[in-house]
Amino acid sequence: MTALPLVFDAPRRGKPPRHLADLTREEARAAVAELGQPAFRADQLARHFYRGITDPAEMTDLPAAARETLTGALLPGLLTPVRHQSADGGRTRKTLWRLHDGALVESVLMRYPDRATVCISSQAGCGMACPFCATGQGGLTRNLSAAEITGQAVAAAAAMASGEIPGGPGRLSNVVFMGMGEPLANYPRVRQTLHSLLGHAPYGLGLSQRSVTVSTVGLVPAIRRLTEEGLHCTLAVSLHAPDDELRDTLVPINTRYKVREVVDAADAYAARTGRRYSVEYALIRDVNDQPERAELLGRLLAGKLAHVNLIPLNPTPGSPWDASPLPAQREFVARLRAAGVPTTVRDTRGQDIDGACGQLAAADRADGVPTVATPTPTVATPTPEAPVALGAEADA
Ligand code: SAH
Repeated sequence: MTALPLVFDAPRRGKPPRHLADLTREEARAAVAELGQPAFRADQLARHFYRGITDPAEMTDLPAAARETLTGALLPGLLTPVRHQSADGGRTRKTLWRLHDGALVESVLMRYPDRATVCISSQAGCGMACPFCATGQGGLTRNLSAAEITGQAVAAAAAMASGEIPGGPGRLSNVVFMGMGEPLANYPRVRQTLHSLLGHAPYGLGLSQRSVTVSTVGLVPAIRRLTEEGLHCTLAVSLHAPDDELRDTLVPINTRYKVREVVDAADAYAARTGRRYSVEYALIRDVNDQPERAELLGRLLAGKLAHVNLIPLNPTPGSPWDASPLPAQREFVARLRAAGVPTTVRDTRGQDIDGACGQLAAADRADGVPTVATPTPTVATPTPEAPVALGAEADA
């Protein structure tokens, strides 16, 4: 396995067209006024967008003559579904989206008896180069705009509301930033998306803070910045190893932000929000699943406002690694629980459609030949002392 460089700055590419969901309410109202329309039309457009209405003909509260102008200027179609793939009798559905510049991303909607969760992408590709993750192997194509990220959740909410997912019409209840990309490497756009997910009608989906989870490799300055936002969404930290030596190879960003710093930043988030954070740990056979590592992890997290979510490794093409066998998983869980750390094993959905954690590669198999349809970006290796460009403003 070749080691990939860490990439923080997204390659420069054409920006997606401006969209209402990239703007604050005030900016949206100003944009509508510039088009010579009364500002309240921005609220009407927002209501349509968050309900998943895309056809101007259905926007009957807007004057017919202004519909095309308003939607053209503020609700451009940004996500074109290329295909849906279903598993679990239709209750898990992965969608491949094509963006305006041909970049591809995936989102996965999972319906459970008591909730419906969509796993969304925040970047096309990912620059964090974790060797066990399929997305990480393709490199970073670009940051998504806020509207491109939000649109995935809006589409999932609309699919739930329409009844097209088996189980009858329902409500999208949860959003997890566990699709493609490192959300905290695209900070401003993810922050704007959080406001759209949590905002109330007409400017948002009205989700509850606890049901929105931001998952990160552990970009410490960005976790600290998120702590200052005053939001209370759930934080998940992808730890995967309790010791720096192993984590340096499994999560290459660890060469910059060590286990201790990541845990400290997550603790500060928990202290500020009063909310338990999740520690994600993919169990990889004979790599990080030894009883000693369970003990070490237990000592690291005992007494903290943390919960461990173990994910049996999902296979990815070209990786020599495997999920831990059941006895090793059980032993790992038992040792963590004995240390007083709340621990669960994640129910892995969508493996058969490559829709499980770490399997999203947006490979286009339309012609039967698996090819990553996004061009391999040219990447620069950051110098160790280079500051992390949290906003990845290169594309702004
Ligand atoms: N960049 C974010 C979101 C990534 S995906 C992050 O790193 O947290 C969400 C989770 O899936 C992360 O914890 C990630 O490490 C994990 N993951 C990646 N590849 C996986 C695989 N092959 N099997 C199991 N989990 C995986």
